[in-house]
Amino acid sequence: MESKNEFSQRRQRMVEEQIAARGIRNERVLTAMLKVPRHLFVPEGFVHQAYEDHPLPIGQGQTISQPYIVAVMTEALQVGRQHRVLEIGTGSGYQTALLAELAGMVYTVEIIEELSIRARQILNRLDYRNIRFKIGDGNEGWKEFAPYDRIIVTAAAESIPYALVEQLKEQGRLVAPVGPSGAQSLIFGVKHGQRLVQRSLMSVVFVPLVRGKPSVDS
Ligand code: SAH
Repeated sequence: MESKNEFSQRRQRMVEEQIAARGIRNERVLTAMLKVPRHLFVPEGFVHQAYEDHPLPIGQGQTISQPYIVAVMTEALQVGRQHRVLEIGTGSGYQTALLAELAGMVYTVEIIEELSIRARQILNRLDYRNIRFKIGDGNEGWKEFAPYDRIIVTAAAESIPYALVEQLKEQGRLVAPVGPSGAQSLIFGVKHGQRLVQRSLMSVVFVPLVRGKPSVDS
């Protein structure tokens, strides 16, 4: 069994070789990625691959994103301690942990109950106090705590759900994969007036953002 020290060395290598070497420079992002124990967020059989350069299955047909893509999305968001961040697609909770390292408060929505419960258990065990969880359809955002300074979507929709633009603050930033399977782009947007001014950062492969039943706050 690998020791804590062994994992921290793997994390160091991941950040140097996959993240910093590819141009991620934001110190707060790099520090958070050095700190968050990614191996705790993957299923037991995949622990030895937790710091490798690819996505991994997390059950229920879902995946934890490749570390580099997580870094690109997190850097683009420019999250500060003063920010309230909405995340759509809690999944394993790994991205949630990074956001909690950087933000004041993180609100995270997941449509698959089992994944939300599991992520909550791990994040509680790691003692994050600035995260609120909801089980429901992220297409609707999370109205109760809107507006948000930052919004991140970690599953691909055909277009950015309008509720998310509505729940974003003026000058707020949003990052989301958009497009049909096989032709998705990572979109970066800033809200000006009622509009989201968008540009594409790179092409990506994400699981789809599904449409669910109207949800109840938990
Ligand atoms: N950020 C996650 C990535 C998980 S993959 C991680 O680091 O592990 C995307 C997640 O979005 C999946 O868990 C999937 O169940 C969830 N998802 C898909 N459609 C959704 C929807 N409409 N609302 C909320 N979550 C959704």
